[in-house]
Amino acid sequence: MDGGPQTQEAQLRKMFRRLSMGNAERRTHFGYSERRAALLALRKTLREFEGPIIAALAQDFGKPETEVRLTEIMAVQAEISHALRHLKRWMRPRKVASTLVSFGTRARIVPQPKGTALIISPWNYPVTLALGPLVSALAAGCSAVIKPSELAPASAAVVAQIVAEALPEDLVSVCEGGVEVSELLLDLPFDHIFFTGSPRVGKIVMQAAAKNLTSVTLELGGKSPVIVGAGADIKRAAKMTAWGKFANAGQTCIAPDHVFVAKSVETQFLAELKAAIAKMYGRDEAAQAASRDFARIINPSHFERLSGLIAQAEAAGARKLTGGASDAQSRYIAPTVLMGTDSQMGVERDEIFGPVLPVIPYDRLDGVLARIEAGPRPLALYLFERDRAVIDQVSRSSISGALGVNLTLVHFLHLNLPFGGIGNSGLGAAHGIWGFNAFSYEKSVLENRFAPIAPLMPPYRGARKRLVRVMARVLG
Ligand code: NAD
Repeated sequence: MDGGPQTQEAQLRKMFRRLSMGNAERRTHFGYSERRAALLALRKTLREFEGPIIAALAQDFGKPETEVRLTEIMAVQAEISHALRHLKRWMRPRKVASTLVSFGTRARIVPQPKGTALIISPWNYPVTLALGPLVSALAAGCSAVIKPSELAPASAAVVAQIVAEALPEDLVSVCEGGVEVSELLLDLPFDHIFFTGSPRVGKIVMQAAAKNLTSVTLELGGKSPVIVGAGADIKRAAKMTAWGKFANAGQTCIAPDHVFVAKSVETQFLAELKAAIAKMYGRDEAAQAASRDFARIINPSHFERLSGLIAQAEAAGARKLTGGASDAQSRYIAPTVLMGTDSQMGVERDEIFGPVLPVIPYDRLDGVLARIEAGPRPLALYLFERDRAVIDQVSRSSISGALGVNLTLVHFLHLNLPFGGIGNSGLGAAHGIWGFNAFSYEKSVLENRFAPIAPLMPPYRGARKRLVRVMARVLG
């Protein structure tokens, strides 16, 4: 945004008016074909911008091309295709059966667009987490403002170009900028706020939303544990954990944060984990640093934070199984596995959000589950186990945004599953119909055909009084 704070505020207000002015008209005229056309335009433009997207992410944090194709381009394309396939059904008013009390009426639920939505996105998947929610907003018939993260400026600029190219500016606008722009936007009376980011900022967003009684979807983060059970396929557990952790250099909201491994399989798991890292990123330090499949840390302050976490853990007695090499200039931190950490160390307390993986051995699964229960609710919990009884036990007794069994990350791409957190890891859900629902209001419509309502009105004497008494007894 240009200009000083006052000009900026005036510009944002003007933009908000432009976007929300058409809301009433959009409710009637932004129907199935118009929404479909908007989604098709977005899909076409996204294809045309593949090169610039790959270049922008390489510039922002050295994200490898194939990872960009998989997690930024394909993820959004899949969301668009899924919405296109199901949109007609999602939009359709749903008839519901009459109840005894509403005898003689006809009832339906009509999904309507909430209006103008604000989408605030983080830097770590800067295209997916800005355009994914936009797909849901457009499918629901909303206009939207996207505020991408200032920490990935090249990606934010590409998102702005894609939107400007694909969609009219009275439907979607992108406001680049930092916290100050976010704060100004949060003052405006949006009809829904879809925020993806840290729990700390999630609380700020929810407070701001409360001033206007705006509904929110909060997609937050936190520590997502992995449990490697005594009955796990260890090779698979090691590969999946290494991939889930070190993709995007660990800067993934659903990345395994730390691993609890059953003592009986600890040695084997550590050996397989080391082998998996070597296979994916290189056999030695030099090969790993030169790997073209491993991203860099987003900025110097996160590089310092992560280096500090490793140094603090080592100073307090933790040991490295592998990794630890780093280069401040290129913001490189090697895939690092730590052993011998304890609950007083930062790596076990805070969300790591980088390529550092503490492995914590355990004797009893109950103890691990009790520890997870005592902490903030995870966004994802991963379990590696072949014993059905253990899978069922963990599934029943734990609460997390999602439970991944014998896999990591891939539940993000399953669009028939809601994606979201609970408590500290979020509120509400994204993807597929859940994304559509987040931006929609389900209006109840009840039509009177021949409902016998008159006998329920005063004066309550004689037969009417007796009727209400009988009804209360029969229906209550
Ligand atoms: P962040 O919360 O710092 O920033 C997210 C967005 O909020 C950015 O656009 C930023 O400009 C804005 N913002 C920052 N401070 C603000 C303030 N005081 N007031 C208003 N707006 C503000 O998060 P981040 O560092 O960009 O991303 C990392 C976090 O996001 C991690 O915690 C991660 O787990 C989480 N995350 C969650 C998901 C999910 O789907 N649940 C996905 C990706 C990341």
